[in-house]
Amino acid sequence: MKVPFTDLKAQHAPIKEELCRAFEMVIDSGEFAGGPFVARFEKDFAAYCGTRHAVGVGSGTDALRLTLAAMGVGPGDEVITVPMSFIATAEAISLTGAKPVFIDIDPATYTMDPALLRKALSRKTKAIIPVQLFGQAADMDPILAFAREHGLRVIEDAAQSHGAEYGGRKVGSLGDAGCFSFYPAKNLGAIGEAGAVVTDDDAFAEKIRILRDHGQSRKHHHSVIGWNGRMDDIQGAALGIKLRYLDSGNEARLSHAAEYERLLSGIEGIVLPATGRNRSHVFHIHAIRCADRGHLTRVLDEQGIGYGIHYPTPIHLQPAYQFLGLQRGAFPVSENCTDTFLSLPVYPELTPAQVESVAAAVTEACTACLTT
Ligand SMILES: *Cc1c(COP(=O)(O)O)cnc(C)c1O
Repeated sequence: MKVPFTDLKAQHAPIKEELCRAFEMVIDSGEFAGGPFVARFEKDFAAYCGTRHAVGVGSGTDALRLTLAAMGVGPGDEVITVPMSFIATAEAISLTGAKPVFIDIDPATYTMDPALLRKALSRKTKAIIPVQLFGQAADMDPILAFAREHGLRVIEDAAQSHGAEYGGRKVGSLGDAGCFSFYPAKNLGAIGEAGAVVTDDDAFAEKIRILRDHGQSRKHHHSVIGWNGRMDDIQGAALGIKLRYLDSGNEARLSHAAEYERLLSGIEGIVLPATGRNRSHVFHIHAIRCADRGHLTRVLDEQGIGYGIHYPTPIHLQPAYQFLGLQRGAFPVSENCTDTFLSLPVYPELTPAQVESVAAAVTEACTACLTT
């Protein structure tokens, strides 16, 4: 059975009429950028995350960049993050003029290893960006305690973990600010590009609102240099509808992961994802580690089963970051993960038969690779 890696058509088919009616309302309203549909979604998303504010922006990258700018991070500053992420995390730091300082990840959850923070700290350190990777939070308690001890800000890169919880609280609400992406393939996805910053800090939320709108504190009065980072109302309207399906989508992802666990545990040559203590997982990505990825991908290709690799290269080994002078060997856990990760389809609309055929193909490939 052919199984695609993602299927956004299947996600939108049951709500297409609802979306189209909302788009018609946006068109008739004549308000397209940072208007009432964005404001309504911001209110709903803040309530969902359990924060006082959500500020809609143009993308997840905008959310990170605006957050760093609003915190005054700039040239000469350092921000601690992980090399095992999508490149946007580091890019946002670099675009402010600050330097990303990487630390390795925990080999069980693939999120920031808090024990390594102390070694990365310098007098220039301003903030920490833990990445809530693949659908679960990093171990936030020790990260937050370290930040408090040293007067650092904590920005959650929550772009892959909409709705996940840590200590019973929603991801995004744990640090000083939470940055979300609504890129279409994320657990909560727009019909295009969008993002949001969530926070409990009134003054900080106001700063983000001003920065996303050309530094405009009132009409034609530009108090600071900002840029155009507004969310558009078509996205606000679509996200307002899709937010209502986020929890059921996450539950479906979780049940697919449980089924993979049931069908694949004990298979030699692969490591299944683990959920850390004190948190819930929303499986944006279902990454397994495999001893022989080349063989597994050949079998999946033959059978028409989609897969992804998130990510084939850690950020410090990307050409764009060669200037930092970090070599292979600098972050062994991240490097081993990029060499062995393989992401199985886990989108909500998968059928039980599709999950079974993915698991059967993985089983077949791993068994064959042991006997040859
Ligand atoms: C998707 C993603 C981003 C960037 O979001 P965009 O909306 O594509 O700009 C940032 N960080 C992580 C971890 C992501 O997965």
